Amino acid sequence: MKRESQFYPPAFEERLKEERIVLAHGAGGAKMHRLIERIFLKYFGNPILQRLEDSAVVPRSPGELCFTTDAYVVEPLFFPGGDIGKLAVCGTVNDLVVVGAEPIYLSVSFILREGLPIFTLAKICASIAKVSKKVGVKVVTGDTKVIEGTGKEEMYINISGVGWRDPMVQLGVELIKPGDVILINGGLGEHEAAIALSRGSYQLKASLRSDCTPLNRMIRAVLKLGGVKMMRDPTRGGLATTLNEFARAVRLGFIVKEEWLPVSRQVKGVADLLGLDPLYMANEGKVVLIVAPNRAEAVLRVMRRFPEGRKARIIGEVVKKPAEVWLKTRLGSLRRLLMLEGEQLPRIC
Ligand code: MG
Repeated sequence: MKRESQFYPPAFEERLKEERIVLAHGAGGAKMHRLIERIFLKYFGNPILQRLEDSAVVPRSPGELCFTTDAYVVEPLFFPGGDIGKLAVCGTVNDLVVVGAEPIYLSVSFILREGLPIFTLAKICASIAKVSKKVGVKVVTGDTKVIEGTGKEEMYINISGVGWRDPMVQLGVELIKPGDVILINGGLGEHEAAIALSRGSYQLKASLRSDCTPLNRMIRAVLKLGGVKMMRDPTRGGLATTLNEFARAVRLGFIVKEEWLPVSRQVKGVADLLGLDPLYMANEGKVVLIVAPNRAEAVLRVMRRFPEGRKARIIGEVVKKPAEVWLKTRLGSLRRLLMLEGEQLPRIC
């Protein structure tokens, strides 16, 4: 089946707009099968999925199997820079690539609120198909459930992903040593700031977009260079939480310099207004890398060749003691950065 990225012709789209999800779409009968054919197979169709068996049967690849899963409940469903479908694919793909895997297959499960326009589901599926194609992953299995309507147009998505890793790839916190440098590929907090603004309850005008993007191409290029010891995507909890996870795992200190941190004027504006700290704000297209000092410049050069790495920079270094996370302020003092306590904003991913 040919993978298409556009919608059906306009007349069909009009019909989709009027139709809404009903409980029967999740009941396993004829209505559900029509939904599978009209929407899921149209957007995700490939020979593995099209068999519609109880499990996807996929060929084995050499290497180590990497497997991850995430649920997405973001509100609103569409926001500047993305939507719940793009976010779900990027989040799952990025969790695979930061451990050095090549993403290959996805499962996509929807929990749909009764009353959701089928056109909305179609738009989200088109978005999932578009970003999957860009990454080179296939949706090979999935599920749909429908829950009773409340008048709100809602959906939740769970995506699991598998990828294969070359056994030669060496990554892990145990490789980190004092003197290693901390890198990031761009500005902090853009996803959370964009979600906050798109909720619309603030009288704010800013041209903020979520950074939501797949990082597979850039990371694949960087891994060829050697010297990268550990990577993680600083999603919920932001940079400060990711560094605390590293510090907890290796008993080393991680110091970031305030003046080196990339925070755009718009993110800073939103953060100040809402009482948020960009160091703790969620990102969806960022990666924190711990790199041997003699490889850092080469890694930065390669990252900057990609749009998602154009603003890559060194933000700090690893020290022996104290084995915690610190911010070196512009005044030269050290401020301890703890792990995020509680939540900044609910339903950001
Ligand atoms: Mg992650």
